[in-house]
Amino acid sequence: MHEKCGVVGISLADRAAARPLYYSLYALQHRGQESAGIVTHDGFQQYDHVETGLVGDVFAAEDLDDLRGSVGAGHVRYPTSGGVDACCAQPFSVSFKSGSLGLAHNGNLVNAADIRADLEERGHAFTTRGDTEVIAHDLAHNLLESDLVRAVKRTMSRIHGSYSLTITHDDTVMGLRDPQGNRPLCIGDLGDGYVLASESAAVDTLDGELIREVRPGELVVLEEDGSGFDSYQLASPPQSANCFFEYVYFARPDSVIDEELVYDVRRELGHRLWKENPVETDVVMPVPDSGRAFATGYAEAANEGRENAENSAEEGEPNVEFAEGLMKNRYVGRTFIMPSQDERERAVRLKLNPIKSTVVGRSVTLIDDSIVRGTTSTQLVELLQDAGAEEVHVRIGAPPIVAPCYMGIDMASREELIASDRTTEEVRDVLEADSLAYLSIDAIAETLDRERADLCLGCVTGKYPYDIDGEESDREVERPLVGDSAVEAAGNADD
Ligand code: 5GP
Ligand code: MG
Repeated sequence: MHEKCGVVGISLADRAAARPLYYSLYALQHRGQESAGIVTHDGFQQYDHVETGLVGDVFAAEDLDDLRGSVGAGHVRYPTSGGVDACCAQPFSVSFKSGSLGLAHNGNLVNAADIRADLEERGHAFTTRGDTEVIAHDLAHNLLESDLVRAVKRTMSRIHGSYSLTITHDDTVMGLRDPQGNRPLCIGDLGDGYVLASESAAVDTLDGELIREVRPGELVVLEEDGSGFDSYQLASPPQSANCFFEYVYFARPDSVIDEELVYDVRRELGHRLWKENPVETDVVMPVPDSGRAFATGYAEAANEGRENAENSAEEGEPNVEFAEGLMKNRYVGRTFIMPSQDERERAVRLKLNPIKSTVVGRSVTLIDDSIVRGTTSTQLVELLQDAGAEEVHVRIGAPPIVAPCYMGIDMASREELIASDRTTEEVRDVLEADSLAYLSIDAIAETLDRERADLCLGCVTGKYPYDIDGEESDREVERPLVGDSAVEAAGNADD
């Protein structure tokens, strides 16, 4: 339901970039399993290899050998705009008068159609339905008229929406983050070069050193010889719109975003979850793997609570047990990839099996990061009840998801979201759980030490940090006018 591709860009002194790019994509595989691709440049020519499938299946050793040059960009794709077919696999590459471009995009533009119409008017022909090609053509167009930095700035002033991009322009590698910094992007030092990646786990995989986040609105240009990078702050809006869901679900727990280890954030959110909605039970159990850090934190806080409470806990009373009572079949794909609801339901049973002895006759608190459609939780409550649990309480490390994410797929999914038209009590009733509680938005903002106004909370408030047709914004944002509408507006201003 949310958007979460992975991007990487690498520039090295005199090593081939293909293998480091390949390893980084492995590190980012959780961000997209639909397709994978790499584009490189050897100073003369651009090379690319892009296919549907997992990283390990897409590239053979010979493919990596054929990707020549010490610079390049890579992408793993989770289906977003453009559909699930091979049409929109990335990086998107194109060669034109002033050189070749390769673009890897994490995010989603909300005005791609406007820009596409404008460019088509000027003779650009498009080969895919995706919005990344729109950025590529716009940039190609601007590069005919100005230098690299100015061309990027121009494109930036026309596109509206979320984007973390890694771009190759011949043998120059760049990273660009949208002015509100919706999706993550960081810079790492590799000793003999630099890497730009969606998550720091990719930097770790290359045995590099995380330097910092690319700032919202910042363009980072890596030196061709791997000796350094230049920074250009191309836009500085008053607010940012970081996706809180990166911390809750998307990012690897071992990644660091904005100097916070994601695992620690989730554990702290687990503490909050206990503090906001404690329930006395025998055993705290995570939904693997997404609920693990939350459940660890929840159990920690529960046991701390017992130690501190003078009357409730008797001397020597055992701690609340933390148990991995649901075993995962790791060969089953993500339930979301299954197309029909029926298949999704079957997939949950295929994926998770309870250890009966930990649940029989006991009160269980089941912890997960989020409820989207409600499929996972409904199935697991039933699974635990069937296995003999006496009570099943559900605690969720995110607020109710009430609205779609326009930074990604499933545009028309409001009806599918279990909480979009139900109270928490009504959701509990559907789940047939003994109790249900979500985490508050404030707990998330406080844990991240952010103002609510600097987060993208669209999926939990229904108000978005971008100007989206038919939706409300939670701030002053204006979609740039492009093409005819820009000309019209200028014309009207003259009247
Ligand atoms: P549900 O079964 O309620 O539809 O989805 C909730 C489960 O899906 C949770 O276990 C959560 O970890 C996971 N989840 C939440 N958001 C997303 C998403 O955008 N994509 C995928 N693949 N899984 C998600
Ligand atoms: Mg999950």
